[in-house]
Amino acid sequence: MTHRATKIVATLGPASSDPALLEQMIRAGVNVVRLNFSHGTAQDHIERAHQVREAAKRAGREVGIMADLQGPKIRVGKFTEGKVFLQSGQPFVLDAARTEMGDINGVGLDYKALPREVKEGDVLLLNDGLIVMTVIDVKGSAIHTTVKMGGELSNNKGINKQGGGLSAPALTAKDMEDIRTAMSFHADYVAVSFPKSATDMEMARQLCNVAAEDGHKPGMIAKIERAEAIPHLEAILLASDGIMVARGDLAVEVGNAAVPALQKRMITLARENDRVVITATQMMESMITNPVPTRAEVSDVANAVLDGTDAVMLSAETASGKYPLETVKEMAKICYAVEGGTTFKMEADFTGRTFRQIAHAVSMGALFTAHHLGAKAIVALTRSGFTALWMSRHLIRVPIYALTSSVAVQRKMTLYRNVHPLLIDVSVDRDAALARAEIDLKRRNIVAVGDVYAITCGESVGAPGGTNTLKICQVQ
Ligand code: PEP
Repeated sequence: MTHRATKIVATLGPASSDPALLEQMIRAGVNVVRLNFSHGTAQDHIERAHQVREAAKRAGREVGIMADLQGPKIRVGKFTEGKVFLQSGQPFVLDAARTEMGDINGVGLDYKALPREVKEGDVLLLNDGLIVMTVIDVKGSAIHTTVKMGGELSNNKGINKQGGGLSAPALTAKDMEDIRTAMSFHADYVAVSFPKSATDMEMARQLCNVAAEDGHKPGMIAKIERAEAIPHLEAILLASDGIMVARGDLAVEVGNAAVPALQKRMITLARENDRVVITATQMMESMITNPVPTRAEVSDVANAVLDGTDAVMLSAETASGKYPLETVKEMAKICYAVEGGTTFKMEADFTGRTFRQIAHAVSMGALFTAHHLGAKAIVALTRSGFTALWMSRHLIRVPIYALTSSVAVQRKMTLYRNVHPLLIDVSVDRDAALARAEIDLKRRNIVAVGDVYAITCGESVGAPGGTNTLKICQVQ
């Protein structure tokens, strides 16, 4: 496989903790790993991050690390037997004041505010919507419900209110502690669960900045999974570096059928605003237990690629499934096949758009020229990664190679669609940097004699100033 534009995010867990397997997964196509802070201790995450860096080194490929904060999971308490089997039609009481363990008649609540936030007629969805209850009455701390759709309910399962409306803040005390942990190993991205507003994202960014004593700046990803986030999508997006279409919780809150249209809208909005976007949850769900995906899963991944997502994400498939490596291979194969079988046209309104910043305009010039010349590659010598990000917001076939001397910038760019981040010391004057870049590209077999490529850089590549040069080169 020569070139895949769409990136793969893989969640790590017990199924992917073996260092040799992790290395194989990276070689098979994982670009970014997700550490799920809903599970495990701080020490577990620190060790895992270290394992990832080591495995990436062995594989000779840089990977990004995304720390996914747990957020305010609104959960039931525990049961005497660990679980109960609820029948449709039976009464069930959720009681915030209950101290004894749960049974078939009721259970305690981790989220003590819930009785104040629901009323008669509200629909509660438990365990990702597999169990449905209607609120009959609220008496003090006790929510009396009727089970509409029964099933197994076990310890600490999540609760959502249909349509949203729960006030739990996006950042919990545990999240703040976890941000410190994530900054200690320089997580490249921090994903915030259940943000409702731009303020939630701004606060999370500030906490990261304070926690990172050495100035490390992670990219902030807003997980869009609350009904309340939808009306504020644009503001949340602008306060973030990217978003995740977190289809699991989102589907529970807004209903399954509303999600595909929202996915398309979110992907378009993210690209238009120079932000990245990850499409997540149940993409290859059946591969948790089966060695091949269903036709529907193949189509789901394919559609996200066609929608223009930067990355497709694996959750339990790679964290706790039986076939983590096979799943990554299958997903990479789908992305590759879909990209190869699609004619990406420069958007019709591209030439009508204005890009007022010099670096942005030069980046778009490179894109336009490379597209029309059918160039072999676009090469961006970048300090901040911005030129590569701007270029990658437009779907074209020409691959973008982003050359940087900062490993943090290289890791951040692992998430950008169609961008291949490479580490190379280009902190020399412009002509020397251009010559060095071409030698490196030839050595990596990215370009060969006779190939045409477009390259962008700044006046003096290592110094502040920004991209102001576009050169079209033919390899001699
Ligand atoms: C989701 O709800 O789709 C999601 C990605 O969030 P999590 O898996 O962290 O609950």
